[in-house]
Amino acid sequence: MTRLVMKFGGTSVADMERIARVARLVAAEKAAGHEVAVVVSAMAGRTNELVAWTDAAGRAAPGLEPSDDEYDLVVASGEQVTAGLLAMTLRHMGHRARSWLGWQIPILTDDAHGRARIDDIPAEALGAAVDGGEIAVIAGFQGVTHGGRITTLGRGGSDTSAVAIAAALQAIRCDIYTDVDGVYTTDPRIEQRARRLARISYEEMLEMASLGAKVLQTRSVELAMAKGVAVRVLSSFTEPGEAGSDTGTIVCDEEEIVEKRIVSGVTYSRDEAKITVLGLPDRPGVSSKLFSSLADANVNVDMIVQSRARTSDTANMTFTVGKRDAVRAMELIRAIQADVGFEDAQVDEDVAKVSVIGVGMRSHTGVAKTMFGALADRGVNIQVISTSEIKISVLIESAYTELAVRALHAAYGLDQVG
Ligand code: ASP
Ligand code: MG
Repeated sequence: MTRLVMKFGGTSVADMERIARVARLVAAEKAAGHEVAVVVSAMAGRTNELVAWTDAAGRAAPGLEPSDDEYDLVVASGEQVTAGLLAMTLRHMGHRARSWLGWQIPILTDDAHGRARIDDIPAEALGAAVDGGEIAVIAGFQGVTHGGRITTLGRGGSDTSAVAIAAALQAIRCDIYTDVDGVYTTDPRIEQRARRLARISYEEMLEMASLGAKVLQTRSVELAMAKGVAVRVLSSFTEPGEAGSDTGTIVCDEEEIVEKRIVSGVTYSRDEAKITVLGLPDRPGVSSKLFSSLADANVNVDMIVQSRARTSDTANMTFTVGKRDAVRAMELIRAIQADVGFEDAQVDEDVAKVSVIGVGMRSHTGVAKTMFGALADRGVNIQVISTSEIKISVLIESAYTELAVRALHAAYGLDQVG
C-alpha cells in the first residue's frame, strides 16, 4: 500500500457541490489502492473575511493591536469548517474518514504567529490511522506552537501543510488540486498559446512562485525541494476518470526531466515600485546606510542598480520594492537624507517586472541577447535588469507588460504549435 497526499485549495471547496466532487476524487484514489490523507484550505474568500474581522477587532479598540496569537486563532478557523464538511461528506458516501486539526496531529511550529514555520510533525498517529484504511482530512494552513497556541503558516500556507504532511508520511506524491490544470509556460490569460508543462524542476518552480506565478506558495516549493517530495499540480474541476483528470504538472528534480528546454516560463509582476535616489556621495558606506535602514524596517529590496554621474562625484541608485512597501520605503529614505547627503529621491509605481526562467540558462549562452532583442523589436524600454543563474528579470513600464510577455514567449519558442 502506498500513501498519497491530496490537497484542495479554496476554489475547490468553495461550496457543497464542489466538496462533493472533491470527495469523489478522494474516493477514486482510495479505490485505486492508496492510503489517503487530504489537506484542505478554507472556502474561497473565507480567509480574507476572517482577516477583515481581526482588522475590525483591532480598530474597535483604539491603541490595542489585535494580538498575533488571537489573529491566528480566528483566521485558522476557515480550514476547520472545510475539513469537517469533507469528512462528513466522505462518511455519507460510505467511507471511513475523520478530520484532523493542526494541533491534533500535531503540526508543531515556531511561534512566529501569522507566518509560522513548521518544526516537526510527529505523524505516528496520523500514519497509523491512514494505514488502517481511514481517510484523514487535515485542516491546512494551521499549526500549533510547542506551548500549545494555534499558529498559521502565512497566506497560501496550506500548500506547505500538504507538502510537510507528505514528507512526514513518506507519501509517494503530493497532489495539489487547484483551479488550473497545471503550471503553464506563462499566464494563459495574457498569452492564449501558453502551454501546460508536463514537468518542471523545483528550482524553476521556486523562481516562478516567487516571481509572480501564483500556483504554489513559495515556501511549499522550498520544502518539497529540501525533502524531495514529488509534487503534482492538477485541476479539481474534472471528474475522476474524465479526460485530463490525471495529467497536470509534476514538480521534480531536474534530472527527471527528459524534454530539455532553455527557457521554461515567462512570468510578470505588477506588484513593483521603483525608487531612484539621486546625487548620492560616491564613497564607501553609503549603500550600506541606505539598505540597512530598509532592511531594519523589514522592507524587502529586489532589483538594484547603481550608476555614477559623469559630471560630478555623485552616484544614482535605483532599486525596487513591493508596491505596498513603497510609501514606507520613501519615508525611511527621506529620514536619512541629511545624514547620507543625497540630492533627491523619486518613486515610480508604474512599473512591472517581467522574467524568463529556465535551468537551461546555466549551460547556454545568448539567453539575455534573445530577451533584449525581442523587447527592443517591440520598442519596450528596459529600466533595470537583474539576473540569477536560472532567470533574467527586467523592469519595464507597466503598460507594456502584456506585449513583453507575448514577445518573450514567442522568442523562446514557447508558443503552442497548431
Ligand atoms: N486559507 C488560507 C489562505 O487563504 C490558506 C490557503 O488557502 O492556502 O491564505
Ligand atoms: Mg493557494
